[in-house]
This record gives sequence, structure tokens and C-alpha cells, in this order.
Amino acid sequence: MTIPTITLNSGRTIPQLGLGVFKVDPADTERVVTEAFELGYRHIDTAAIYGNEEGVGRAIAASGIPRSELFITTKQWITEQETAKTRPAIEASLEKLGLERVDLYLIHWPAPRNDRYVEAWHSLAEFAEDGLAVSIGVSNFLVPQLQRIIEETGTVPAVNQIELHPALQQREAADFSRQNGIAVEAWGPLGQGRYDLAAEKPIADAAAAHERTPAQVVLRWHIQQGNIVFPKSTRRERLAENLRLFDFELSAEEMAAITGLERDARGGSHPNDVN
Ligand code: NAD
Repeated sequence: MTIPTITLNSGRTIPQLGLGVFKVDPADTERVVTEAFELGYRHIDTAAIYGNEEGVGRAIAASGIPRSELFITTKQWITEQETAKTRPAIEASLEKLGLERVDLYLIHWPAPRNDRYVEAWHSLAEFAEDGLAVSIGVSNFLVPQLQRIIEETGTVPAVNQIELHPALQQREAADFSRQNGIAVEAWGPLGQGRYDLAAEKPIADAAAAHERTPAQVVLRWHIQQGNIVFPKSTRRERLAENLRLFDFELSAEEMAAITGLERDARGGSHPNDVN
């Protein structure tokens, strides 16, 4: 099984499918990531605030997988955006991960009331120059925030990682990102289990037609739009299920019907409310 890659504006490639480890217990993280590696995952999405970078690091160290085959993302928490704090923050993440560099480093939330995200973005650009992060990007940025960092620094993020699933598609942020060469990473790609995918008729119909699960249909819907996804699961059978996306294809009609499920149903926080 080959996982397709997307080429970022840094020229580097990222596997379009990975594993996210939000809310994976630190004590269970090494086991989950190790099982994911065994199944063929090579892309892991973590964050300093998840508290499980060490578990990811232990799994990487034990895996014996060449570093060049792995794609590891972590994120700077909102309390670390001021210049004096940014370098210690990335150094702490690298230490926990046991890595010399991450493949992608993100500003986790813009935290607009603190108004330090432009300052933080300057630091990330330095980390890319210094080789601490191969590519740099942002998460939970809305259009005005993307415009501002691009205008004030001239550095375009490689990705914008935003909540995105059939019931919340964030058209404005996603379209602006794509038009500016910023890859869209969909967090909560399955809606974080907040709504029953099988109860959505277009998803259930496509699942029946292709003999797939509702989760596979939704992940395939993301893949066909070019979204980067890293669904979270701690269960081996679901980790395996979520990888089996590349031997079937949704029709244009099926894609459109699932896209029709948009209802502005934000499950997580609004980006302007995390400060
Ligand atoms: P998700 O949409 O991946 O949903 C996870 C839920 O779906 C879990 O309850 C899991 O048990 C269930 N699930 C997984 N596979 C399934 C399957 N095959 N069938 C049925 N149920 C299944 O939500 P998420 O974990 O919040 O998002 C994925 C990743 O995105 C996170 O782990 C994290 O890496 C990232 N994330 C980033 C932010 C951010 O602010 N940047 C916020 C949330 C999540």
C-alpha cells in the first residue's frame, strides 16, 4: 500500500494520510504509534500541548525506520508565542521527540487577543532557516490572520491545519489557503465522533455502494479534495481501516452529495476564542 504525497510550497513532500495523537494518553502513545508504524503509517501529528511527544519519540527510536521516511509534525502552544519563549519551546519539543528537526512545525492557534502570532511567525521562519523545522505552517488561522502574516513577513505558510469535515468545511479559509499555495490539513476529519457519520444518508449510501465503512468514505472524500488527514484512533483495527483508502474512488455525484452536508457545525473552539 502506497500513501500518496502532497508537495508543500517548501518543496518537501508530506504523506497525505497520517495518524493524529490528540488525546492519546501519554502512557499509551508509544504503543499506538508503534502499531501505526507496523501498519505502514509514516506521518504523525502531535503537539506540545498533547503531552505525548515523548511517547512519539520512543516509538520513533524503537522503530528502526530511516528518519528520511518519517514525517513528524508538532506545534507551538499559545503561551510560547513571544520571541523569548519560541526557541526554548521548539528545543523542548525536539528533545522530547528525540529529533534534530521536525518535518513540520506549526503555530497551534493564532490567539488574536494576545496579538503575538506575527512575532511567533518570525521565529518559525528562523527555525526553518536554522534547520530545526524542515517546513513551517499555521493552524486554526482565518483569512485575515493568513493575510496579515504573509503581508508582514513575506513568508507563506506551507500548511493551514483547520477543523474540517463534512458538516464544517470552512470554505473561506480553505479556498484562500489553496489559492495561495498553502496545503489544507483537516483536523477532526471524522468530526471527532461528534455526529454519527452512518446516519448521514450520502455517507451511508456511498459506504454501501463501495462496501466500505462510513469513516473510510469520509476520509476518501478528504483525500479526493487534496486535504491532508491524520485521523486519530488507538485501536489497531481502526488504524488499519483508516489506511485502506486508496483502492476505491467516490464518483463526482457521491463527492457532491457529501459536500452537501455542510451545516457550519463547528465541533471545536472558534479560532478567535482560544487565547
Ligand atoms: P477525528 O476526526 O480524527 O476523530 C477521532 C474519533 O474518531 C475518535 O473518537 C476515534 O475513536 C474515532 N474513529 C477513528 N477512526 C474511526 C473509524 N475507522 N471508525 C469509527 N470511528 C473512528 O478527531 P481528532 O483526533 O480530533 O483529529 C485528528 C487529529 O487532528 C488529532 O489527533 C490531532 O493530531 C489533530 N487536531 C488538531 C487540532 C488543532 O487545533 N490543530 C485540534 C484537534 C485535532
